[in-house]
Amino acid sequence: MNKSISEALYITAKKYFPGGVNSPVRAFKSVGGSPIFIERGDGANIWDADGNTYIDFCCSWGPLILGHNNPKIRERIIATVANGTSFGAPTRLENELANLILSNHSYIEKIRFVSSGTEAVMSAIRLARAVTSRSKIIKFEGCYHGHVDALLVKAGSGLVTFGQSSSTGIPVGYTNETIVVPLNNKEAVEQAFEKYGSDIAAIIIEPIPANNGLLRVEKEFLTYLREITKKNESLLVFDEVISGFRVGLEGAAGLYDVAPDIITFGKIIGGGLPVGAYAASTFIMSHVAPEGAMYQAGTLSGNPVAMAAGIAQLTECSKKGFYEQLEQKTKKFTEIINTYAIANNYEFKIDSIGSIFWLCFSTEKIDNADAINPDMKRFNILYNYLLENGLYLGPSGYEVGFISAAHTEEQLQQAADTMKKGLEIVFSTQ
Ligand code: PLP
Repeated sequence: MNKSISEALYITAKKYFPGGVNSPVRAFKSVGGSPIFIERGDGANIWDADGNTYIDFCCSWGPLILGHNNPKIRERIIATVANGTSFGAPTRLENELANLILSNHSYIEKIRFVSSGTEAVMSAIRLARAVTSRSKIIKFEGCYHGHVDALLVKAGSGLVTFGQSSSTGIPVGYTNETIVVPLNNKEAVEQAFEKYGSDIAAIIIEPIPANNGLLRVEKEFLTYLREITKKNESLLVFDEVISGFRVGLEGAAGLYDVAPDIITFGKIIGGGLPVGAYAASTFIMSHVAPEGAMYQAGTLSGNPVAMAAGIAQLTECSKKGFYEQLEQKTKKFTEIINTYAIANNYEFKIDSIGSIFWLCFSTEKIDNADAINPDMKRFNILYNYLLENGLYLGPSGYEVGFISAAHTEEQLQQAADTMKKGLEIVFSTQ
């Protein structure tokens, strides 16, 4: 596969951007080689600058649940752009997207649009602190919540530790209020409440943790978090930037029937344009300015073009049977590969929830980040084989893949066949 144009573009990009990219994982550092530069996308396909075609399973890291260049989204964007791109004043499109989200969701009553998932989480944390007049936040190892200072932390060596920053440039004071506990560990959560209960504003969790592989969290653990936060008058925040409108109209909250106090959104609600949001009950949201004293604002918040893309996308998602079909497709795809892996005794499975999947080099249930084998040699061989043979996935073994409504049965069968061949190569050389 000729990648010479991508390679040349990358050399130029390195002159402009740190590591040649505008978001770190795009740099292909963990899988080796250099990034492919994308020229265009249509349906489930993308084309790179050298003219190579791929079936795309990255889907822009989740937002593109209808695939690339969806005509309904494209036309709605074009019609909106014709009237201008931004006003910094309210438009009816904000009402329309808010209604699509809130009327399809039983756990939230009011919403505030922002421009990214990180911004949504940052604001949700501030809101939880404002509502409770407390400062500490519990987060779980293995959950990612964007590049919010206080949440960009790794755990220390104990069961319940204050976060140690996993990035330079974050003052110790910023992470002192973050308590990091192992995922799925009730004892650790209990200890944290025993020690700091009256100071804990909220627990934040990805109810479907999908940033360190796909970590398994059971409904029972989420229910437990609901109960312990209620008992201690803390709030429960579900970070549904990935799972929101991905596993169903009500996201993970609906899937597990657990009602959080605040939900953060991103990715899918923007239809491929930059939109994030946080939402909660009318009472909780009444703390947000200008109604309340918690300040949060944004020049491009509720941007009409981005709202239009979100409206077009969620209108499709809310059609009857949309999520069932997507899940069925995903199941069929993963089953072909898993049946093959089992028949050959490979230490491998594709795990999936809804249309999120993860290539996992273990047959065990993975329910915390430590359970992931950090040796990514096998993944990297597979990754490069798949790329060479026309499948594009996020370039890291810790990233999940996504199936969109645009992936056809034929494309999924072709992808499954390619994966089977790739696995054969991996397990015959390793
Ligand atoms: N929260 C979760 C669960 C995410 O997966 C992400 C991004 O992948 C974020 C927050 C941050 O969103 P963004 O990249 O839009 O800032």
